[in-house]
Amino acid sequence: MTTKTIALIAHDRTKPDLLEWVGRHVEKIQDFTIVATGTTGSLIKKSHPQLAISTVKSGPLGGDQQVGAMIANGEIDIMIFLEDVMTPQPHDVDIKALLRLAVLYELPLACNRITADLLMENLEMALKFRDEYPHPEQKFLEYLKRNV
Ligand code: PGA
Repeated sequence: MTTKTIALIAHDRTKPDLLEWVGRHVEKIQDFTIVATGTTGSLIKKSHPQLAISTVKSGPLGGDQQVGAMIANGEIDIMIFLEDVMTPQPHDVDIKALLRLAVLYELPLACNRITADLLMENLEMALKFRDEYPHPEQKFLEYLKRNV
């Protein structure tokens, strides 16, 4: 299997959950190229210095959009995004845009720890299914060829 890329993002109040989750799955995660939003990435680096993590900007400063662009470019294979659904976020529209692209591009996506656990346990299966689905540019060919 070629190296896959995992995106890790957590809002402030879910960062402890993500750190705990990373701790439980560190053996598997270290085989991935890891991309994280700024603050999330720096906290993971601190608690797991053995992991190589590339960070983009902090989410509210454009990091979510950077990860979204990577998804559209086919550079992300799986995303764990622990959203804090009890706190209004200044970059709400960016979060919505990021999740929309993850859905559009059939990304194995977990927004809570339990689904993230399931994804890690069934990773090969998830990635195999994903390979079998048509790429969005194929799936929406008619849209791309529409008369405007
Ligand atoms: P952060 O961004 O990791 O820089 O806190 C998270 C987010 O997308 O809100």
